[in-house]
Amino acid sequence: MIVTYRINQKRLWNTLMELAKIGASPNKKEGITRLSLSLEDLEAREYLINLMKESDLHVHVDPIGNIIGSLAGTNENAPAVIVGSHIDTVFQGGIFDGSLGVLGAIEAVRTIKESGIKLTHPIDVVSFTDEEGSRFGTGYIGSKGMTGELTEDYFTLKDDKGLSYQEAFLQANLNPTNYKDAVRNGNEMKAYIEMHIEQGKVLEENNLAVGIVTDIQGPIWLEVTLIGSADHAGATPMDMRRDASLCMAEILLEIEKIAKHYEGVGTVGKLKIEPGGVNIIPGKGTFSVDLRHVDKQIRTQMVNEVYGKIEITCKKRKIQFQIVKKKDVDPTSCSESMIAVLEDVCKELNIKTMKLPCGAGHDSLIMSKVTEMGMIFIRSKDGISHHPNEWSEKEDCATGTQVLFQSLLRLAK
Ligand SMILES: [Zn+2]
Repeated sequence: MIVTYRINQKRLWNTLMELAKIGASPNKKEGITRLSLSLEDLEAREYLINLMKESDLHVHVDPIGNIIGSLAGTNENAPAVIVGSHIDTVFQGGIFDGSLGVLGAIEAVRTIKESGIKLTHPIDVVSFTDEEGSRFGTGYIGSKGMTGELTEDYFTLKDDKGLSYQEAFLQANLNPTNYKDAVRNGNEMKAYIEMHIEQGKVLEENNLAVGIVTDIQGPIWLEVTLIGSADHAGATPMDMRRDASLCMAEILLEIEKIAKHYEGVGTVGKLKIEPGGVNIIPGKGTFSVDLRHVDKQIRTQMVNEVYGKIEITCKKRKIQFQIVKKKDVDPTSCSESMIAVLEDVCKELNIKTMKLPCGAGHDSLIMSKVTEMGMIFIRSKDGISHHPNEWSEKEDCATGTQVLFQSLLRLAK
């Protein structure tokens, strides 16, 4: 007889709701804000460390702040199976993005421990530092730290208040000087698996709780600064102006056209106009650009066209410009072997599923460069994410965690 151990749905949900209280706005409308290494994030990290200890995992925080809860294998030299996600959020984000992956992983490993099953490979539950990049303008810091992609330049980045990344780390009692000690070789890892909410509507439209990811779009982030002239709004005729705001508006519409043309996505989510007076022509404009596509070559074409349009528009409007690339992550595919494991597990559990590409970036993108990578998607209500209304049903979270549990048993066997 095959005995299937069940993860504890109620316990999983309780931990999700408890973590959701940290950084929550008093009126729920503004969601949860736990920017990386903020006081709220530090409180959440503390919560997680305690939960890992309570789950009888061996807890360790690496020099880049990744929280790692380990379950030993019977062969201590066997490469580890890594499972995780992140608990930092965007500004006014939701309950599930990242948190479900970390808490689901803890629940799955806790169930393994309680079931008394002995596995050959160790399992490391990882909560990666700063996946979102909302505070310092660049994300995947923890996973990049683990895969050896970080450089010293990252620590000089500053947040909106002028605090450097280095200072933020020190305030959190972490010493980034030793960041290279966080690097793990590919041969120390057997696989990386991440459960995450879909953040789109595909599973919902197909009436499925769980999906298996095939490819991940990689984002490119640009920060564009436009310099015009901040003249008097009454005394300066229209054709003598160097209006950074109008230049920005024209570029924004071009970005939309380019994204649609290539069937990719392009977003300007952050913009600022200065000096910001009713009767002053905007002399300076700054905005972000996020461009994504599953095909790297097509994405490069999109980026080149955006650069081209910025140049042409600025020339026409006599505006000076500067473009800084803040993030550049290649699109990637999930490992065939991991997709096969997930398909098998869903079949075994009698869970209907489908394969689908992933639009958002995740730590899995970074981890795929050094090890076999697979991803489980959980249905998102109305596809809403990075928003207070982000929601996934209790049963769906549990179904995904059961798939995760069963996959870990196979991977760490
Ligand atoms: Zn996430």
